[in-house]
Amino acid sequence: MTPNSIANSKQTMTSRWSSLLRYFSSTRGSSGPVAVRVDYAPGAGRGVFAVRDIAVGDLIHTADPVVAHPALASLQKACYYCLQGIKKQQKTGRLLPVTMGSANTARILSKLTPDDETGHASIFCSMSCEDSAAKVFYSIEKQADWSQLHAYCSTHGLRFPLVAKRLARMVASSATSEHVLDILTHVNLSQGIIPDEWKNERRLLLEALMSTTVAPQSFEFLTEDWYAGIIARLHLNAFRVERIDEQDAGDLLAAATASITGDSIVGTAIYILPSMYNHDCDPNVNILWPNNVTANLVARRDITAGEELRITYIDANMPCIARRSSLQQAYGFVCECDRCKEGD
Ligand SMILES: [Zn+2]
Ligand SMILES: [Zn+2]
Repeated sequence: MTPNSIANSKQTMTSRWSSLLRYFSSTRGSSGPVAVRVDYAPGAGRGVFAVRDIAVGDLIHTADPVVAHPALASLQKACYYCLQGIKKQQKTGRLLPVTMGSANTARILSKLTPDDETGHASIFCSMSCEDSAAKVFYSIEKQADWSQLHAYCSTHGLRFPLVAKRLARMVASSATSEHVLDILTHVNLSQGIIPDEWKNERRLLLEALMSTTVAPQSFEFLTEDWYAGIIARLHLNAFRVERIDEQDAGDLLAAATASITGDSIVGTAIYILPSMYNHDCDPNVNILWPNNVTANLVARRDITAGEELRITYIDANMPCIARRSSLQQAYGFVCECDRCKEGD
């Protein structure tokens, strides 16, 4: 996709605004009172604002994803549902859940489910994750052969088709709505034409799903337009979930940067409220994943009521010119933050 074909469509918000604002006005921070509101942000369409003073280090709020999927390389290292790290004990071969933010091993897994027959092997950190997964996607997913779609993703270095796969299963099982991501901004397709690669991914996905016992009508929503709408939103809103290295744990910006640049990606997730945060190359908020796929939004410095809350979308340690170019290419906007204006 060329930079010109990507445009941030934050200006094209719909009338769902009012219900969205009502929903988020009930979002609570760690210390009780409502911490944030979503509102219009000059030049950016919308943004997230502090409604009270927030101290550095405060957990502003947590956020659970709409949908998440582990990276293919993490299938044996992370819970297939919540992405919590799982480590093999060298002596016994037993699997232990690992807290992402530290090397603490919590408790021995009550159960694990390796399943090599379906084109992928999945493990769960707990019975509760396995039960939740079974309800919303796993019972049907494991009937299908995913080897073709996974091979396609591996060859092309793609993550988003895996997220779309899981979301499609959740929609088919009525665990969520096919419109659940509509509220999010999306890349605009060049001349409105769906790229052939996306059509191909959707075909592989549909073929695998159609090989299950689920009635084909359950997948009627999975049109090329629907698939393209999901991928177009993932391009602007998906987060890479990564472990915080222990040496970074005391340095929140380093940890947040590691979550953008690190090689040990645990998975990909998409959220609603965190996606409303605008970007700043010197952000006042970090988004972190201390345990699992539940995101923690943490104040990077003292924040006063009314201030806009911003996170960084890219590696903020890059020089100015590289940051601006990355943002233009990936997100379609020219960064006008204070750092960029100063050429820092
Ligand atoms: Zn889990
Ligand atoms: Zn900037």
